[in-house]
Amino acid sequence: MNPTSRIPVSVEFFPPKTPEGVEKLRTVRQQLYALKPDFCSVTFGAGGSTQEGTFKAVADILAEGVSAASHFSCIGATRETVRAQLATLKAMGVKRLVALRGDLPSGYGAGGEFHYASELVAFIREETGDDFHIEVAAYPEVHPQAKSPDSDLQAFATKVRAGANSAITQYFYNPDAYFRFVDDVAALGVHVPVVPGIMPITSSTQLMRFSDASGAEIPRWIRLRLQSFGDDTASIKAFGLDVVQGLCEQLRAGGAPALHFYTMNQSVATIALCERLGLTG
Ligand code: FAD
Repeated sequence: MNPTSRIPVSVEFFPPKTPEGVEKLRTVRQQLYALKPDFCSVTFGAGGSTQEGTFKAVADILAEGVSAASHFSCIGATRETVRAQLATLKAMGVKRLVALRGDLPSGYGAGGEFHYASELVAFIREETGDDFHIEVAAYPEVHPQAKSPDSDLQAFATKVRAGANSAITQYFYNPDAYFRFVDDVAALGVHVPVVPGIMPITSSTQLMRFSDASGAEIPRWIRLRLQSFGDDTASIKAFGLDVVQGLCEQLRAGGAPALHFYTMNQSVATIALCERLGLTG
């Protein structure tokens, strides 16, 4: 692929918890629409904890004339609740889902009729045929609970064979892990687009916290540089922009089919990155 060619972009939000958050997200969305995203996705709290907020944000995006994907996690859910949620999403005009297992917050009882995302994907296909484009999650640096790297690759292949159309990865800062993952799943006969999830770097502490929880590795050189900036947020942001721009350029040059930005409901860093990458409009 020509490294200067335009590749599609999508952006991810989480459902705000307060009326102020809803208004702020409305403004952020308008700013990000300048990037002409292929779609905007909205996360879904495991156990259905954010269902109302997720569906509301998805409805707002659709009403603004932009394609929206609802994340959908199945841990703790029953067939009956999933069937009802799918019917709601279909009636709203949603055409795209990000189908996940999810992680139950501690203290939440297990239960539920789904154990893995592959079961959710199979159920969605069984119930709704080809009504939805289904995305699944991919982990180039291996899902933290996987029994082994190989079993994680097999689990990914199983999800795709159950009916997923494409995948979005957990964020990473090591492009080799992504390219290796794409080669490994291709060797298993899995050829769906695997879109890198890109986390802009804007705060050192936030990034460390997320990465500890998600198993995404911060390479030592990035971690040390970030630590050396202390509270100097301007330097953290400038460094973060350089690092993530370089990552995106390598991914694009290596054939990544699109870029999916974890915006954290902020517009500035994603827009700055896309401007540098020539992906505005
Ligand atoms: P699965 O694909 O089911 O995999 C979970 C684990 O089980 C893996 O370790 C896998 O190797 C293993 N496994 C799978 N199948 C089998 C099997 N048959 N036998 C044994 N082991 C198996 N979380 C949310 O709560 N809400 C969101 O909106 C959300 N959005 C996300 C978006 C993206 C792009 C990504 C990358 C993650 C997102 N997450 C979200 C986090 C996700 O829910 C967690 O990472 C969760 O722990 C795994 O979900 P999964 O769908 O990848 O699970």
